[in-house]
Parts: sequence; structure tokens; C-alpha cells
Amino acid sequence: MPINFISMELKNKRFSMQGVDLLTVAKEFGTPLYVYDAESIKLQFDKLINAFPKTKIKLKYAAKALTNISILKYLRSIGAGLDAVSIQEVELGMMAGFKAEEIMYTPNGVSFEEIVEGVDKGVMLNIDNISILEQFGNKYQDSVPVCIRINPHLMAGGNHKISTGHIDSKFGISILQTRHLLRVIKTYNINVVGVHMHTGSDILDAAVFLNGADLLFDVAKQLKTIEFIDFGSGFKVPYHESDVEVDVADLGGKISKAFNDFCKEYGRELQLWFEPGKYLVSESGVLLAKTNVVKTTPATVFAGVDSGLNHLIRPMMYDAYHDIINISNTEGTERVYTIVGYICETDTFGWDRKLNEISEGDILAIKNAGAYGYSMSSNYNSRFRPAEVLIINGEAKLIRKRETMEDLTRNQVVLDI
Ligand SMILES: *Cc1c(COP(=O)(O)O)cnc(C)c1O
Repeated sequence: MPINFISMELKNKRFSMQGVDLLTVAKEFGTPLYVYDAESIKLQFDKLINAFPKTKIKLKYAAKALTNISILKYLRSIGAGLDAVSIQEVELGMMAGFKAEEIMYTPNGVSFEEIVEGVDKGVMLNIDNISILEQFGNKYQDSVPVCIRINPHLMAGGNHKISTGHIDSKFGISILQTRHLLRVIKTYNINVVGVHMHTGSDILDAAVFLNGADLLFDVAKQLKTIEFIDFGSGFKVPYHESDVEVDVADLGGKISKAFNDFCKEYGRELQLWFEPGKYLVSESGVLLAKTNVVKTTPATVFAGVDSGLNHLIRPMMYDAYHDIINISNTEGTERVYTIVGYICETDTFGWDRKLNEISEGDILAIKNAGAYGYSMSSNYNSRFRPAEVLIINGEAKLIRKRETMEDLTRNQVVLDI
């Protein structure tokens, strides 16, 4: 188990988070269960902040990775701002105590009405197409500060599905449209205070950010009102033992230098923003699931757990690798298993995995489940979504109840047939 998984510790054959025993947590709150470690979120937050010592850096947590209000409150308490991609995330952020001015709203493909709603709530709008920008200019002229999302057309990210900056992508205003963009800004006298890019997920290389940065600087240079430059996110975290984490210290040094040089050229000290989601919360979370059945077939031994793609879709949707361990038996002989869910559809968490021998009833921990786990979960197969627990100040706290039949039927209108 060579991945140095920052939120879990193995001691006396038992796995714990902040000294809280995970089997006890599974017993107390039941399975399937998402468990998050507040300290590891803080550790990642500090690591990223500390990589940029000489810049005015702001981290806007990308809410969509994990949207639980208690998690949002915790991130706010340690100094994060918020990046929201829907008006509902804006509202959740406000419920968590974020002030409007701490929230950036980065929608894609929404109606102008929703843009107006964002302005009325007082959040910073990040506009990603010229049509909406013209409507914005018409309505607000220079009275509402705004950020512009640029698509730099860089191929970045772990795979095509999660890459957002390439030429075929629907996101952002093309860098090739800069002249048109500047015309619109000038004609309506729009108060552009930020330029932004977000090119994808699972980026390892500072070069991607640096290439994008040069393009953003070129746009910013032509505007006099800039206050911040937002480089988005996409910081890679290790999922597989052969993965390396993005070297944020190296990245920080290189980007800081380019950024500070640009500020000098621009003539003013600007803020540097990022919007990390996965980097902050991925490793904080595990999905605990109970083994319902160990089933030997002519091809493999399946361990079937009380969860599935309805709770964690990343393996099936992105072919994502998630490390899986048997926390009920940490020293047994390793055997080869295929870990599957209970959904009536091919629903594999991992093929050909070596785990300490699994017995029915054993609790398996699926790692790196903090980001895009619960937030992408569904009720497919009419299953309840899991409960969520946050380990904070050395205690396990329930932050979302397990669903019930009432949750499944609440909005159904049953006809008298
Ligand atoms: C999803 C998203 C992020 C977060 O990406 P991660 O890979 O989770 O860090 C940041 N900014 C925007 C605009 C996004 O859509």
C-alpha cells in the first residue's frame, strides 16, 4: 500500500483518521458511508498557499467537488473563498457563511436571467461567452465588475472528458476572439476586473499553467481595470501508487515569478487566484462499504459491496483508479479480487486488486473519494445515498443523514389510477 494517503493512519492493525477508528465510525453511522478528514483538507490548503509566498494569492474552493455545507463552512474557516458553477452552489455557499464578495460564479451555458440573479446576489460573475457579455454590457455598462473566462486552447488534463481548454471545448471565450472581446468591452465600457482560465483536471505540469498565463497576461495587458488573474485549477492528486502529485512548490515558484514580472509590467500589484477542488478534498475522503458477498466465478473472485456507481461514479465514468483496502483485516494474506457494487449494471470499483483476504461483512475503504464522490452521486436503482461524516477536532460528526424512502418519494406525484 505504497500511496502515502494523508488522511488515514494504520496503527495496531487498525485504520484511523485523527485517531478516530474507522471501523468504529462505520459501525456507529452504518455503511455505505463517506468519511472526510478536516485536517487533511487544511494540510492541502496550506501546502498550496505556502507555495506562493510572494504573491497576493486567493484560493476559491471549487464547490462542485464536495458541496456539503459543513465542508464549505470548514473551508471558509481556514480562509478559502468559493467558486460556484450554479446559482444553487452560490446559495449553498451563502448558507455556509460566505459573503457575496468571497464568491465567484463561473457558469457555463446558463441563461442571462441566471446571470442577473448572480449580480443581484452580489457575487463576482465570470462570463464565458460574448453573447452574454454583450447583454451584460447593455444592462450594466461599467456599474458591475466582472471577470472574463478565456479559453486558451491548450490541451491539458488527464483525459479528454475532463479537459476544458482545448479547441473543441464549449468553455470560455476563445483566445482567438480577443479582438472581438476587446471591442465589446470597450464599446459597452464594461468593468473587467479579472481574467480567468480553467483548462482541465489532473494537470501535472507547471508548463500548462505558464503557457496559459502568457495568454491571459496578453489579454489583461489590454485592459486597464484588472485586479486579479485566475488560473483556475486542475492540480493533480495521486490516485494510483505510480502517480505523482503535482509539485506545488515547483509550480508556485515558476508561476509566482511569471506573475510578479507581469504585475511589474502592468504597473500594479494584482491578486493571483486559483480554484482548487480535487486538490483540497480528494484525499480527505474515503467511501466505506460493507462486503455483502464474496463470489467466486470461473474468471475471478468478486467482492460485492453495499455501494456502487450510484455513490461513486468516477471508476465507471472516467476509468478512474481508486485504491481500495480491507480495513477489517489489515494483515491477512493478500488475494486477488474484483471489487464490484450492487447496482444492476456493470459497476466495477476495481479489477484485479490485491487486498488482504476479504470475508463477508468486512469493511472496505475506497480512497480518494472526497472529490466528485458524493457530489456526483444519484439514486439510481432507487438506492439511498450514503450518509456523510466529518472528522473534526478528533471527533466524528454526522454532516449528512442517510436518505430514507421519504427522500425517494418526496416530489413524486402519485396519480389516482
Ligand atoms: C471543476 C472546476 C474547478 C475545479 O477543478 P479541480 O480539478 O477539481 O481542481 C475549478 N474551476 C472551474 C471553473 C471548474 O469548473
